[in-house]
Amino acid sequence: MTRKVIHIDMDAFFASIEQRDNPALRGKPVLVGGKPNSRGVVAAASYEARAYGVFSAMPCSRAARLCPNAIFTPPRFEVYREVSQQVQAIFLRYTDRIEPLSLDEAYLDVSEQCVRKTATSLAKEIRQVIAAETQLTASAGISYNKFLAKMASDIRKPNGQFVVLPEQGEAFVAQLPIGKFYGVGKATETKMVALGIHTGADLRRWSLEALQKQFGKWAQFLYDIARGIDERPVDNNGERKSIGAETTFSENLHNEQAILKTLQDLAQQVANSLQKKQLVAETLAIKVRYPDFTTVTRQCRAVPPVHSFDDIKPYLPHLLQRTEAVDKSVRLLGLSVSNLIDQKSNTPIQLKLKHLDRKD
Ligand SMILES: [Mg+2]
Repeated sequence: MTRKVIHIDMDAFFASIEQRDNPALRGKPVLVGGKPNSRGVVAAASYEARAYGVFSAMPCSRAARLCPNAIFTPPRFEVYREVSQQVQAIFLRYTDRIEPLSLDEAYLDVSEQCVRKTATSLAKEIRQVIAAETQLTASAGISYNKFLAKMASDIRKPNGQFVVLPEQGEAFVAQLPIGKFYGVGKATETKMVALGIHTGADLRRWSLEALQKQFGKWAQFLYDIARGIDERPVDNNGERKSIGAETTFSENLHNEQAILKTLQDLAQQVANSLQKKQLVAETLAIKVRYPDFTTVTRQCRAVPPVHSFDDIKPYLPHLLQRTEAVDKSVRLLGLSVSNLIDQKSNTPIQLKLKHLDRKD
């Protein structure tokens, strides 16, 4: 059966909440976080500010130069978190298969709900309910997998939606600029462009073997998405059994060696837990939170399963490479392992552990 996945993305979330709550900010270029002359970065920019070329994660000083009449406002994360929960509660009325990506984005698997109703009409309804109950707009992408739904939600932003039907998937991917691909950061984009890969169509011309030489374990994912294929399930948050560790920095970290060193420290903690519990893990994931609070996770399959620090260590640079950590700098790093197997009995284990991968 063809899956039906909706990616919902709130429009300029933090900035829109500030404008909603303070009428004096409406229609104005609003920047959340930082001060004009500070060394910090913009956490969010209203659409009025974006018209000046300002975007989130941009240094405040640069934003202030581009948009001299910008209004800087301090972030209110408790409020954003509250609104995020309100939106999640709306999602839950439609499906319990929800995977949040950050405070303002989530994947919804609505395959079961959309036997009679189209996913397109359901997405429209969800956006209308969000607008009515939060006075905030959201955009949606609708497709048959996560990658395409995510790419599609950007097309009619703000306050719009776009559907990619199964027969349109390949053509849609073909025309996408490679820098827009979810998961392709600045560093990877530069590498791909140097290899002559400018669009999805260019990527599609590469064989799996050739991609493996350049991108290692990431090759299979790239090979698949170039063909509009993405089998990753919408991951019901909280249900996965995992062991993890994470750390938040008082100052954003941007040095690659320092980031890698931190991941290694986390790997040591995770390996200690695995050994204590006599488990091996088939899946490894890192979590990166950028200064603008968007959070990404990157995971890979470990063959053979990992158990020790030395097992985990070689995967870290590859996982890190699939984020924009070095370009954007990071405020939080996490490492977790899942698909755990009991070493002694060699059977999958059901661990009732706190889910450390939660993306808020
Ligand atoms: Mg958003």
